[in-house]
Amino acid sequence: MTDCIFCKIVRKEIPAITVYEDENTLAFIDINPRSKGMCIVIPKKHFVNFDDDMDTASKVFDTALIVAKKIKIALGLEAVFIAMLIGQVPHFNVRVYPVYKDQIPLFENKPIKVNQKELAEIAEKIKKAEVNWKRETKRKEEVIVEKKEEPKQEEKVDKEEEFWIKRSFLIG
Ligand SMILES: [Zn+2]
Repeated sequence: MTDCIFCKIVRKEIPAITVYEDENTLAFIDINPRSKGMCIVIPKKHFVNFDDDMDTASKVFDTALIVAKKIKIALGLEAVFIAMLIGQVPHFNVRVYPVYKDQIPLFENKPIKVNQKELAEIAEKIKKAEVNWKRETKRKEEVIVEKKEEPKQEEKVDKEEEFWIKRSFLIG
């Protein structure tokens, strides 16, 4: 979408402090954060609601987890909040909030004052924190959990014997 601010960030028409980027997603620092180092994760493709494109939305969540882990490592925090909210920008996004002990509960509707230089330093730390995780690709048929009946003990033995007979045949 031409007028969407987040799409402009993806196209690098608006500057943003990026902390993570891959083929489908982008994570950047919120310059009006609710907590220091708060990140916004977006899909590069424009859509509004998570259920407009569940596949891409799940990739955004994968990135949100990576960013959450990066925040934990970089800032030495115990907790990170992740939220999917409807915000002012109509482009799907997931927010990742570092949770500092003195900031619990964390108020989403209350932006905090933050020094931009300090924010840039935090961003650099988050960006540098290494997280080597990648989702294993799941085949569609693995998603369906089937309840198979266990074969009776005798049948099991037979099948095993059959296997070894076949196997020795193949080897022999
Ligand atoms: Zn957009």
